[in-house]
Amino acid sequence: MQTLETITAFRAARADLTGSLGLVPTMGYLHEGHLELVRRAHAECSHVAVSIFVNPTQFGPNEDLARYPRDLPRDLELLQAAGVELVFAPAVAEMYPADFGTYVEVQNVTAPLEGARRPGHFQGVATVVCKLFNIVGADRAYFGQKDAQQTVVIRQMVRDLNLPVEIVVVPTVREADGLAKSSRNVYLDPAQRAAAPVLWRALQHAAQLYEQGENDAELLRRALHQVLAQEPLAQVEYVSAADPHTLMEIEGPIRRGALLSLAVRFGATHLIDNVTLAARADSAA
Ligand code: AMP
Repeated sequence: MQTLETITAFRAARADLTGSLGLVPTMGYLHEGHLELVRRAHAECSHVAVSIFVNPTQFGPNEDLARYPRDLPRDLELLQAAGVELVFAPAVAEMYPADFGTYVEVQNVTAPLEGARRPGHFQGVATVVCKLFNIVGADRAYFGQKDAQQTVVIRQMVRDLNLPVEIVVVPTVREADGLAKSSRNVYLDPAQRAAAPVLWRALQHAAQLYEQGENDAELLRRALHQVLAQEPLAQVEYVSAADPHTLMEIEGPIRRGALLSLAVRFGATHLIDNVTLAARADSAA
């Protein structure tokens, strides 16, 4: 495994590879969710590259950039054991030199949900992912369903800018109690950690109502709220039953499946999760 810190060095190492390349972009502090993306990339590509970069432009001024967890030596051990060939771990100045001045702005799908809660977040995400695609030259790039809106934003960017990369979305990896694995879970104190599976319980409850025939989007949103309300440590930021392509809230009956998603704060820690409801024969548009 080679770890490269500069764009020039990475491109040189990449040029030595033949066959297809899969890219897994991460902010490090790796867990099973990231490693699942690596496994999927290995299954589908000749070589795998992982980027580790805590991207400052996707953090708001009051967010957790300074305290975002980092452990590069441990990350590199995990990636070596996972058979990764190339790691790109640049410094901030390598990605954003002092005279940097170009940003990628994806419209519409960045407006609701996380975009409303975190102004500028998706501009930072789209910009860094576009840069990574240009630097790495991957055939496929792997993203987690846990960050559902991010996958919609990236797909839109790839379509709009004709980026020559295939986007693959990998199902969310969870703890035994249903909590979606996240680098941010380390922020939770024991009481918050015990309460956090309420996100998954709420999503499962609403998905079950849908399975049983409930089709009304507002009722499913209310069902999410009802379960979350049972957990006093959970401060709800939003619940959503949205069109999976436009991310607009569905009003009335669900016709093409829906993305149920939610964001919940435990103290200063924000957690997100989601499920996609399968489009049902009885509700086909
Ligand atoms: P991050 O390091 O948090 O920016 O995540 C890097 C990539 O890993 C993103 O595409 C995430 O969606 C994905 N990811 C994070 N957590 C999980 C998880 N629990 N299951 C699957 N993918 C995940």
